[in-house]
Amino acid sequence: MAKRDYYETLGVGRQASASDIKKAYRKLALKHHPDKNPDDSSAEEKFKEAAEAYEVLQDDQKRAKYDRFGHEGLKGGPGGGGGFGGMDMDDIFSQFGDIFGGGFGGGGGGGGGGGGGGRRRRMKGSNLRIKVKMTLEEIATGVEKKVKVLKQVQAEGAEYSDCQTCGGSGQVRRVQNTILGQMQTASTCPQCQGSGQSVRKRPQGSDEWGMVRKESVVTIQIPSGVEDGMQLNVRGEGNGAPMGGVAGDLLVVIEAIPHEHLQRNGKNIHYDLYISFTDAALGASAEVPIVDGKAKIKIEAGTQSGRIVRLRGKGLPSVDSYGNGDMLININVWTPKTLSDSEKSLLEQLRESPNFAPDADHQEKGFFDKVRDMFT
Ligand SMILES: [Zn+2]
Repeated sequence: MAKRDYYETLGVGRQASASDIKKAYRKLALKHHPDKNPDDSSAEEKFKEAAEAYEVLQDDQKRAKYDRFGHEGLKGGPGGGGGFGGMDMDDIFSQFGDIFGGGFGGGGGGGGGGGGGGRRRRMKGSNLRIKVKMTLEEIATGVEKKVKVLKQVQAEGAEYSDCQTCGGSGQVRRVQNTILGQMQTASTCPQCQGSGQSVRKRPQGSDEWGMVRKESVVTIQIPSGVEDGMQLNVRGEGNGAPMGGVAGDLLVVIEAIPHEHLQRNGKNIHYDLYISFTDAALGASAEVPIVDGKAKIKIEAGTQSGRIVRLRGKGLPSVDSYGNGDMLININVWTPKTLSDSEKSLLEQLRESPNFAPDADHQEKGFFDKVRDMFT
């Protein structure tokens, strides 16, 4: 079956703002929430569908990809850029940390452990988001970074016992009189948020769940070829959850630091090289910066301004494909701005030489035309 359009799923227009999208999702999530629709599989489907649409549209990069390429654009590719293959309930509940503001969403399912018989939930910590700056050199090789993260962890000495409100089942049952007669409804215990437990001993300085914020060092492996704005997901390194719950994820957003001389265009690196007018005419060699050092290139005699020299494989690797990009050196001929009297008279002698007159038929293509020609 064809997948529904994400905007249609959330009932918003394509120009919807981030807050419109959040609002629309919130409404749908509350309406189709499994706790409100027990044993209704169509509600669960709608719940999941909305969560998936939200997951994509709330992320600028994914949204841009989706806008351009539709569902196809989100397939394939490891790392932050790509892969999107539906969500499980755990993922969805972990989103709630962000959207419903609270510290925790419930983790899916989770066995009832002792007697209770209800469906206790493991609590789930919310995700944390950090930015990591990357130099071009680091992007070229990939890098391991250690970052300090302030995250919630269970305080030392915190103790828990069965929740008194629900008796540890995580659910409260209520009998309601309806036109169909008496009906029993079960809903998540508001006291313990479905975990079935409450804090018996709360160490000083910890919050209502016996949690404290603590700085910890997380080691992140960042693959080569990442791009500015990409998001990597480090599972389980976000906020912790009390009572053996599941930790949220650490979302790492890449911030690329611009290079002093080199410009990036996808996998390729561009560099503007200025050579003297005499080197262009007579030929020379020149040193150019590349990502991992320097390279020497040959300037042929008679080189025109605007010529592009390509160093194959000296660009960047890509996160989701094989092979490196190229280094493209755009050659510019530098015209002197000040001249001594003797330089002037030398040039005056050359001015009338027919070899110095431009070839009227010669036409240089623009930079991007040339780049395109190289790759087709
Ligand atoms: Zn309870």
